[in-house]
Amino acid sequence: MPDASFPYTPRMGIEAALPVEGFMTTQLQRVINWARRSSLWPMPFATACCGIELMATASSRYDLARFGMERMSFSPRQADLLIVAGRVAVKMLPVLQRIYQQMAEPKWVISMGACASTGGVFDNYAVVQGCDQFIPVDVYVPGCPPRPEQLLEGIMAIQRMIDEDRIPPKGPDGRRVPANIVLAPTHRPTAQPVALGLR
Ligand code: SF4
Repeated sequence: MPDASFPYTPRMGIEAALPVEGFMTTQLQRVINWARRSSLWPMPFATACCGIELMATASSRYDLARFGMERMSFSPRQADLLIVAGRVAVKMLPVLQRIYQQMAEPKWVISMGACASTGGVFDNYAVVQGCDQFIPVDVYVPGCPPRPEQLLEGIMAIQRMIDEDRIPPKGPDGRRVPANIVLAPTHRPTAQPVALGLR
């Protein structure tokens, strides 16, 4: 129980980390970057099975909310992180481009999975062979599908970019220059935990 003769003020979160005086000095740009990296608002463009892993990333086990992004936005004007998860059909491409154009600046793009990055196994006339041919992609997350951990790694790569103040600049033609970060696959298949009984 707190001492009644002493005003009890619980200190939590950033307050607990601050000195007793309650103030700290820093640079405005650092605060802006901290706020920006802690409140990325994803715009899910999930068209196929990778979308299920994207949903799993937002679920309780992987808890995307830890990164300040529990608010999946289905309105591009209130989003700044486009996650392309799944194959992009040629018919859907204008929709994807329109969504990208409508998103708030500064904005980032993650290409999640083999289909979004390369067309995957769907090497045919109906599927775009890599969304980076039409929108700037900052982080490529490999896999078919990538696990939620890999998507989180991709999101953290974006956060590191923001921390370092590396907002992608515009090129000489005025078009956005993509960051082109490629994550290394980290998944190592392990042995089955139970005997399969096949003899
Ligand atoms: S990369 Fe694999 S899991 Fe993802 S959309 Fe393509 S086929 Fe589905």
